Amino acid sequence: MKTNQFMELALEEARAAGARGEVPIGAVVVLDGTVIASSGNRTRELNDITAHAEVAAIRMACEALGQERLTGADLYVTLEPCTMCAAAISFARIRRLYYGAEDPKGGGVDSGVRFYAQPTCHHAPEVYSGMSEVQAAEILRAFFQGKRD
Ligand SMILES: [Zn+2]
Repeated sequence: MKTNQFMELALEEARAAGARGEVPIGAVVVLDGTVIASSGNRTRELNDITAHAEVAAIRMACEALGQERLTGADLYVTLEPCTMCAAAISFARIRRLYYGAEDPKGGGVDSGVRFYAQPTCHHAPEVYSGMSEVQAAEILRAFFQGKRD
């Protein structure tokens, strides 16, 4: 089971999001081995349905760097990105995407529309899946189990 320090930080962001009542997903943007931004889901906090962890982290990273794209940066996220986030990752020119658990119901990378495989996608990151997938899936499972109880 592969993991690394950046995915560990993404998992921490996911747990923190869950503690705030947000769907527990976390994302981290790394450039040249340095964390530029990290965020969990913030849709409830911001009343912004686009504030998924990936988009929130990309916004923070762009603000921190004072630029609109993140060429050469890598993004770590605990769950397979949805179609919106897959597109945002493409538009930001992210170099590598590392994600944890697959999301057959809502994902847009290896599930659903497979955004990066479409002719309308003009930049596709290298995609690495399955990193810390067991932990990432467990955080989500526990969160939704708690909602049902
Ligand atoms: Zn998303």
